[in-house]
Amino acid sequence: MSRTKAASDPRRERQVREAEELLFTGPQKLGVAKGLFLGRFVADLVMPYPQIPAQQAAAVQRSIAELRRFLDEQLDPAAIDRQADIPRNVIEGLAQLGVLGMTAPVEFGGRGFSQLGYCRVMEEIGARCASTSVFINCHHSIGMRALLLFGTPEQQRRWLPPLARGEQLAGFALTEEEAGSDAANVQTQAQPSPDGSHYVLNGEKRYITNVAIAQVLTVMARTPVPDKNESAVTAFLVTPDMPGFVVLEPRMEKLGLRGTATARLAFRDMPVPKENILGPLGKGLKVALTVLDFGRATFGACTTGAAKTCLRLAVKHANTRRQFGRALGEFELIKSKIARMAAHIYAMEAMTAVTASLIDRGLEDYMLETAMLKVFTTEALWEIVNDAFQIHGGAAYFTDRPLERMLRDARINQIAEGANEVLMSFIALVGARAPGQQFQELQEALRHPWGEWRKMWLVGLERAGAAVRAPEVPVSSAPLLGDARRLGRLIRRFNLEVDRALIQHREEILERQYVQERLARAAMELFACACVLSRYDAELQASHAKPDANEMVHGAASLFLRSSFRRVEEALSALRDNDDEAVTAAADRVLRNGGVCR
Ligand SMILES: Cc1cc2nc3c(=O)[nH]c(=O)nc-3n(C[C@H](O)[C@H](O)[C@H](O)COP(=O)(O)OP(=O)(O)OC[C@H]3O[C@@H](n4cnc5c(N)ncnc54)[C@H](O)[C@@H]3O)c2cc1C
Repeated sequence: MSRTKAASDPRRERQVREAEELLFTGPQKLGVAKGLFLGRFVADLVMPYPQIPAQQAAAVQRSIAELRRFLDEQLDPAAIDRQADIPRNVIEGLAQLGVLGMTAPVEFGGRGFSQLGYCRVMEEIGARCASTSVFINCHHSIGMRALLLFGTPEQQRRWLPPLARGEQLAGFALTEEEAGSDAANVQTQAQPSPDGSHYVLNGEKRYITNVAIAQVLTVMARTPVPDKNESAVTAFLVTPDMPGFVVLEPRMEKLGLRGTATARLAFRDMPVPKENILGPLGKGLKVALTVLDFGRATFGACTTGAAKTCLRLAVKHANTRRQFGRALGEFELIKSKIARMAAHIYAMEAMTAVTASLIDRGLEDYMLETAMLKVFTTEALWEIVNDAFQIHGGAAYFTDRPLERMLRDARINQIAEGANEVLMSFIALVGARAPGQQFQELQEALRHPWGEWRKMWLVGLERAGAAVRAPEVPVSSAPLLGDARRLGRLIRRFNLEVDRALIQHREEILERQYVQERLARAAMELFACACVLSRYDAELQASHAKPDANEMVHGAASLFLRSSFRRVEEALSALRDNDDEAVTAAADRVLRNGGVCR
């Protein structure tokens, strides 16, 4: 594609326009991830390591203890998988424990927990049964989230209490045949009635979780833009008792998450009162993406729980299974897997906590961090399940063990709520926007050097400052000073590479996914290292009173930092030393040949 083709492609232009409108609504505090792209370390959002607020800590502990008792007695993940259903008593029990409205305000019947507290609870459930954790997330993290974030006070009073108490269940319906990763391409139509009292919905949705059991759905549909020959997506509150609501297939047969009810549904001339519009008319895409953004935060918790179960099973097997006269754990190729699992789990937990705390601080913009958390933790879990599987050998393949179910359940994580490839592009492009803007400003200023000298001076100083100075990463523990300095130097190098990529590719960077992936991977690892350092530092500080208390986790933390620093360097080096042209040529050839390898 030529330099200008990306910019002049009308569809691409529309996508960029929509993204700008969605993402960049106004000045916001600089976030951790965006800071990395500018060569800065926004320390106060990562350090000190977040803790559950003191006034809530006891309640969260109590909830987790109650939940464990309930799950031990009532939850049978193997039966849920076999019967492809979550029993009613489990759903009711979770509702009674407050899990189905955990972060909803107390005034609406919720528990008013922080996101950090909720994540601890979800880690517990994710450790046992992915079907159950996904069912809860679809109800709580995305199903009723639009109401919590965008509902009017009247809508919230009317709809939220039964949902927060778990007496009713919720779902979130965005995906359609034409609108998968391309979420903006929703085709379901919502036409206003002549008297303006309601909208008439027509269209089909697929892959929608909870439809068969939910009483309230947030549905995305296209409404006409007044006085323009255009349409835009709007969010509607829909109930299954509306005439024209048709469930085409309540439980699509599927590989994993078999306990969840994933549906195909249709709206046939379905009237929806105008009072059911959620958020501003025509701003449904923003509603949808904000909701999904929020939902991604809990991916970290659930995948961490599942990963911990894998490690526990792998360690037990490695210590007990003997071959060649030795326990498997004595072989280096098994040790390397165990160590890698432990290192990643340490990072997954730390990233989840820091990301949850960004939401708890009331920041408006945490979309890059939740996208990084989602990609990092879902990739890590996939590797971890695979490693645990390998350590178990043939035994993992049989249905009397949980690993084959966990493997099936884990696969969807890299696809749902934003395919990882799409999120990777998003991380790189949104992250690189701030330095890109500074370059533009500098270029503009250079055209009018006398009129704009002050701006030119300030922007130039900022760019030059980031180029020569590594940011400070403040840690309190002396043993971590070396790692902190190395992280600072890598952030500086990362920023230089971002600048270089922007200068080299200019607007064509929108099409350069090989470059985007490398920048996104480096940024993700840097974010992970920052979270790990924060946690490690906090644990070292706390363990002064009782030395060696954290010996095991510190082995994992150190290993993570070393290996993650190396991955950052590899990703950045590959910006110059790569096989990109050969990859494109080989792929194009195979794509043209219909899959024949020549
Ligand atoms: C079990 C399950 C439950 C679900 N629950 C819900 C739900 O409750 N509500 C809801 O609205 N949706 C739900 N979904 C839908 C889910 O979010 C979509 O499957 C997901 O967004 C991907 O869309 P798609 O399947 O159409 O894949 P496609 O968009 O066709 O993408 C296929 C693949 O192409 C690649 N790809 C796509 N675009 C790009 C790009 N720009 N660059 C590079 N690669 C790209 C990715 O690898 C992607 O995996 C669910 C799906 C499943 C399987």
